[in-house]
Amino acid sequence: MKQGTAARTRHFDLIVIGAGPAGAAAARTAAVSGLQVALVDKRRFPRPKLCGGGITGRAMGHYRRIFGDALPDIPLVTCDRFSFFGFGQDLGLTTGVAPLYLGMRHALDATLVAQALDAGAADFTGQGGALDTGDNCLTLNGLRLIAPLIIAADGVNSPTARQLFGQAFDRDRIGFALEVEHPETDTTAPVRIDFGAADWGYGWRFPKASGTTVGIGGVMARNADMKSALAAYQQRLNLPGDLPVKGQFLPFGAFRSVPGKGRILLAGDAAGLVDPITGEGIGHALLSGELAARAAITALSRAAPDQALAHYCHALKPTHQGLRHACLLRNIMFRERLRPAFIRSFRSSRTLRTEYFRLMAGETEYGPLMRHMAGRLPGFALKVLRGI
Ligand SMILES: Cc1cc2nc3c(=O)[nH]c(=O)nc-3n(C[C@H](O)[C@H](O)[C@H](O)COP(=O)(O)OP(=O)(O)OC[C@H]3O[C@@H](n4cnc5c(N)ncnc54)[C@H](O)[C@@H]3O)c2cc1C
Repeated sequence: MKQGTAARTRHFDLIVIGAGPAGAAAARTAAVSGLQVALVDKRRFPRPKLCGGGITGRAMGHYRRIFGDALPDIPLVTCDRFSFFGFGQDLGLTTGVAPLYLGMRHALDATLVAQALDAGAADFTGQGGALDTGDNCLTLNGLRLIAPLIIAADGVNSPTARQLFGQAFDRDRIGFALEVEHPETDTTAPVRIDFGAADWGYGWRFPKASGTTVGIGGVMARNADMKSALAAYQQRLNLPGDLPVKGQFLPFGAFRSVPGKGRILLAGDAAGLVDPITGEGIGHALLSGELAARAAITALSRAAPDQALAHYCHALKPTHQGLRHACLLRNIMFRERLRPAFIRSFRSSRTLRTEYFRLMAGETEYGPLMRHMAGRLPGFALKVLRGI
């Protein structure tokens, strides 16, 4: 690293803003490859983070590749029993499929940050900054960090996306989720998923080592009173409804097709990368952080930082395609006219459920899953599916 000419300026190859899964993955990938990286977050870790903490096999695969360990060293419940409900109807228990790993995000994220710092990223956590997008300079308490490339992984409310595009997300398409942490736990209980617990969304009950996380999430514009929907859901699960409720936007289904501008790349929630059906964002955050870092590594090795965004867009194509397919499938699942066909298919077809779990394990994609479904759906649904 060059020391800056000004006393309070430090030059890096890459600045990563936001140290959640996307930022930690980006910083770790870049630092391992030898880049000089600054990892910045306005919070110190561990910090609270509202999330179900459900880590799919697909996400765990990304974790293993990027961080090199089999599993993060945090309390995790490994669950391979899933109880599905759809619009109040019992869709059955599925067992013996690829597991979901359940943990608390404050612990997961602290581990990921520690692993990024161990790889050599410089620690600027606990400091918020002012970004000058003109010269890629971030000012933190009088210290100027400068780099030819920036990866902004600063979450769903991304101040960087707001600076670049005027808004962090589209309010007409954004999702919203509410969660409650119940202190009781039964780690032998199945994971429970209720499609339709929120309108164009679902509810979840996740058993954890330290308690049970219960939540609902759906398209915000369709859920004027999500608090009442959560109260009704907790009542259905025979859980007390008097615990503190927390809420957060969920950018599902409205990703940015060009995630960045100039020499600033957006990753994770800041790029809108959450699965519109499962609400899964940790896996996409890890992967997009890694891909953004790889794009930076390639562009810098060619002394062409202006090309990083194009490399990144190319690498993200399969992820974007999967999210487009998932949006189409969501149109089928939640459209009232098509619901009965969806419920019938999901309940009666073991193959369909197995394919869904293979998807969450990272063994298949939405395209093949939807082709499998197509044979079971009426003509109208096939029109919705046109294009896969
Ligand atoms: C209620 C709820 C439940 C969910 N459940 C699941 C689930 O079970 N499984 C799953 O896979 N996904 C789930 N998600 C989605 C998942 O939480 C996100 O997709 C994931 O956290 C995205 O990671 P990220 O690194 O992009 O952003 P984040 O994890 O949000 O990290 C962003 C970081 O940026 C920092 N930051 C923000 N602004 C600044 C700034 N100005 N300067 C510096 N740093 C800044 C923040 O402090 C934060 O550390 C859920 C989301 C919600 C809301």
